Amino acid sequence: MLKISHLGAKECVTGSCHLVQTDPGSAAGIHILVDCGSAYGDDPELPFDQFPVPVDTIDYLFLTHAHIDHIGRVPDLIDAGFKGEILCTHATKALLVPMLHDAMSFSSRSDKDVHRLEARIDELSWGFELHETFSLKQGITFKLSNAGHILGSCFILFTFAGYRVIFSGDLGCTDTPILPDPDPPDSCDLLILESTYGNRIHPSRKGRVEALRKLLEKSLADRGIVYIPAFSLGRTQELLYELDRIKPKVPVFVDSPLGLAITRIYADLEEFWDKEAKDLKASGDHPFDFKGLYGVERYRDHKKLLDIKGPAIIIAGSGMCTGGRIVDHLKCGLDDPAKDIFFVGYQARGTPGRKMIDGKTPVKAGIHTLTAYSAHADQQMLVNWVHAMPRPPKEIRLVHGEADARRALAEMLGSPIKRPFVNG
Ligand SMILES: [Zn+2]
Repeated sequence: MLKISHLGAKECVTGSCHLVQTDPGSAAGIHILVDCGSAYGDDPELPFDQFPVPVDTIDYLFLTHAHIDHIGRVPDLIDAGFKGEILCTHATKALLVPMLHDAMSFSSRSDKDVHRLEARIDELSWGFELHETFSLKQGITFKLSNAGHILGSCFILFTFAGYRVIFSGDLGCTDTPILPDPDPPDSCDLLILESTYGNRIHPSRKGRVEALRKLLEKSLADRGIVYIPAFSLGRTQELLYELDRIKPKVPVFVDSPLGLAITRIYADLEEFWDKEAKDLKASGDHPFDFKGLYGVERYRDHKKLLDIKGPAIIIAGSGMCTGGRIVDHLKCGLDDPAKDIFFVGYQARGTPGRKMIDGKTPVKAGIHTLTAYSAHADQQMLVNWVHAMPRPPKEIRLVHGEADARRALAEMLGSPIKRPFVNG
């Protein structure tokens, strides 16, 4: 007997959290949590005291990747009594503490508290190899495979007495810079599938570099400033990789201590890069570095950057403009038609980014959305990925998507047309 509850990101995109209970109600049952993320904007977060099981009875916490909407509540979970093991890939383990350190620095926690939690998270967490099967208590097994979403991202296959369940986590696009394409999935009985872009098709990657180049040229022709709100983890490194290809003739500032720290970790973990990135580095072109690129670490330098005259490109977090240094930049830039904002990532309902795109926040700056920069698979890729299973799953549950996206994807997955999995 197995019970799976979707405690977060059930009908929206942020706050991912799923609970697996074996033998629900029995003291011998095992409790596995998959992700424990923060929610943004209007998305809900279920209080821990409303979880179906007490937090101190959770045996394992699996983390599909280190984005805050998948890991952000881990410190609170520990404070609420969690004492189980945290399992993830080696790269996620390397990213976990830096990401949570930054998130906690925006909370009301004291430095001492932050250090205590960092040590505890480090103590409880374990990195695992991809593609190997490992055993948990009571004969449960798991295998992590590459999800191609950000460095370290994985999807998870669990086996419970022969019953196979896959959690997709966030699935990346094929041809994502730096990362190998998502692995094709094994067969399973139940698939818990993300559906962020279940109703969208992204333009091709070749097209998107060209689109970014043209949009930059057009936006910078008036010698203005282009702001790019970006997640520090994943999107910032992809943008640097693409800008390294474009080699813009204007200064590019990464105004994000976390983005810079994560870029250094990405640079250190070359073993997880794809062939193109490795070849580029071997040829002498470091994929995250180019002439005219400047890192802005100190707050006083950030303040100076607010007065800079264009042309320039400024990359800063947070990706949905909910906080961070991008908020200061936008205060200076929203009423200036010479300035442009490029949205390159998903903007959840109710976030300042989404309100600008939807025209609910009036601005004079140019607003541009580059959906091709999504770190999430589009409809066709999701369908291809499911159809790559040797046998179709008996049941698919769509999570991590708004209603329109889930509906459209459900329709496509229900269609009898089998498409070949395109890997590469
Ligand atoms: Zn993610």
